Amino acid sequence: MLARQGRKWMRFSTETWKSVNGDATNSRRRIVRGVSSGAETLAKERVDTVVIGAGVVGLAVARELSLRGREVLILDAASSFGTVTSSRNSEVVHAGIYYQPNSLKAKFCIRGRELLYRYCSEYEIPHNKIGKLIVATGSSEIPKLDLLMHLGTQNGVSGLRMLEGFEAMRMEPQLRCVKALLSPESGILDTHSFMLSLVGEAENNHATFSYNTVVLNGRVDDKKMHLFVAETGQCEAEAQFELITNLVVNSAGLGAQALAKRFHGLDHRFIPSSHYARGCYFTLSGAKSPPFSKLVYPIPEEGGLGVHVTLDLNGLVKFGPDVEWIECTDDQSSFLNKFDYRVNPQRAEKFYPEIRKYYPDLKDGTLEPGYSGIRPKLTGPKQPTSDFVIQGEETHGVPGLVNLFGIESPGLTSSLAIAEHIANKFLR
Ligand SMILES: Cc1cc2nc3c(=O)[nH]c(=O)nc-3n(C[C@H](O)[C@H](O)[C@H](O)COP(=O)(O)OP(=O)(O)OC[C@H]3O[C@@H](n4cnc5c(N)ncnc54)[C@H](O)[C@@H]3O)c2cc1C
Repeated sequence: MLARQGRKWMRFSTETWKSVNGDATNSRRRIVRGVSSGAETLAKERVDTVVIGAGVVGLAVARELSLRGREVLILDAASSFGTVTSSRNSEVVHAGIYYQPNSLKAKFCIRGRELLYRYCSEYEIPHNKIGKLIVATGSSEIPKLDLLMHLGTQNGVSGLRMLEGFEAMRMEPQLRCVKALLSPESGILDTHSFMLSLVGEAENNHATFSYNTVVLNGRVDDKKMHLFVAETGQCEAEAQFELITNLVVNSAGLGAQALAKRFHGLDHRFIPSSHYARGCYFTLSGAKSPPFSKLVYPIPEEGGLGVHVTLDLNGLVKFGPDVEWIECTDDQSSFLNKFDYRVNPQRAEKFYPEIRKYYPDLKDGTLEPGYSGIRPKLTGPKQPTSDFVIQGEETHGVPGLVNLFGIESPGLTSSLAIAEHIANKFLR
């Protein structure tokens, strides 16, 4: 349980809480259809700002708001920070090529990349601007490569250069392509170190983290958001605590829409539909050294950027992620993150031919199942790609509530820029 001790927030076990405060849990009331039927019996606390979700975006937001002098409490249902999508991605710092000009994705990716490289240098977060090649492996793909060059230039990505196949293959002798777009600004970073640093900075600015704490629902009352929370796993259907806040940032990633639907007073018309696309990675085994020194990406496919080569800072080579739409996911599954993250080894059969289009020397039997991540998408198969959605009172009319929806790639790259935007726009 959470409780305030003077200016500090403390966590207690439910038993300790009972012995200090009496058995409030006995008089807890059920939460019915997202609204507490007996909020007056719950332990209550006031806190200025609550960030829901300690993924990379929630952490960046918490750090920024705490740096700007706000009292911040970060709640996460998991037992630590960054355990969901933020630790299940390619760890690539994107340059900002793929996104529609003037979209939030384009704007935040470009600004976020700048802030991220600066942050990594200042705080000695392991990173490497190794550059990337987006490759056309047949002449039919060249117009798509030209389009990417055009988009990237419109978005203001510097240093982009179109290479003839032989130039790219001179840079990367294992590569086969007919043309390539070189993006020198792309790179890789150690996401865990980055998130750890954000946690440390937020804590130094008096932010408090409460893990194993699930936000069940909320309601708006007297221009304040009231959140109902419980210990994860203990009683997922009953609130144990009520938080009365001036500002709530819903950065719950895959569960953001499911949670928003549980905010009484928020019109559901403002909650976009959720779609989920799993992406699996396979690692390369048995190679004495990585076959490439740069990131190598094919032409993007529907729902993803194509099965690409990513290197991590230890030289591990991984291929992925592919795109597998997850059908029939209800809100309960996404709310509690009940997704299946297993990598089916059979999927390797599809990876080999995809990868051999640009890396023909890939040997049979060298791909091993790695890990998977799930993209929190706002549009489904055969629909146009969507932008990030960041909604405050000006959109949905609920004071003190900011919802972040569809923070898929390039969310990691954009995290510091999203945080900056939220602080600039929503702090009063
Ligand atoms: C396969 C894949 C590859 C990617 N590659 C890249 C890349 O190379 N570069 C890039 O820039 N981006 C990439 N991304 C995107 C990036 O990983 C995400 O945009 C980013 O991690 C999202 O962070 P987040 O904080 O919004 O969400 P998350 O990391 O999912 O965090 C959300 C948190 O909210 C918590 N939570 C949820 N519901 C509740 C609740 N009710 N109460 C309390 N806590 C709750 C969860 O426990 C979780 O910790 C990739 C994504 C995927 C899926």
